[in-house]
Amino acid sequence: MTATRALAPSLSLLEVRPSGVHGLGAFAAADLPAGTKLGIYAGRRFTAVQAAAMDWDRALTYLFGLSDGTLIDGGRRGNKMRHLNHACEPNCEAREVHGARGRLQLAIHTLRDVRAGEELFLDYALTVDDAEGPTDYPCHCGSLRCRGTMVAAPAGA
Ligand SMILES: [Zn+2]
Repeated sequence: MTATRALAPSLSLLEVRPSGVHGLGAFAAADLPAGTKLGIYAGRRFTAVQAAAMDWDRALTYLFGLSDGTLIDGGRRGNKMRHLNHACEPNCEAREVHGARGRLQLAIHTLRDVRAGEELFLDYALTVDDAEGPTDYPCHCGSLRCRGTMVAAPAGA
């Protein structure tokens, strides 16, 4: 029998340093094949009811909404995953997975092969309320298909 050691999902797969796009960014610390799990998006959790009662004051870009209405605020008790910047053609995505006791979590995976040193991006696809619009969250990702905003594209677009 041969003992093999699996490469455990680890925060050391990425490193945080200043980004040319915005503030700090997350960069691949090694060559990462497509589908690599980078980690779980950590942060303070709010139920849909708690979230509705909060005054979020434009903290939106660290907030992730899950399909059950839970919000995760990566700006509090977050981990390195919160440093992935937005791009309209991202190389990573967040997938909902069931963690311990069936709790929904967000796992960040690479969408394609990523080279060591490349910056890692998610499409934030922000949802905004009526008081705000796409121009409140401009995107400067520089991709050819940049839609000019971090707000989600309208359905069917
Ligand atoms: Zn863009």
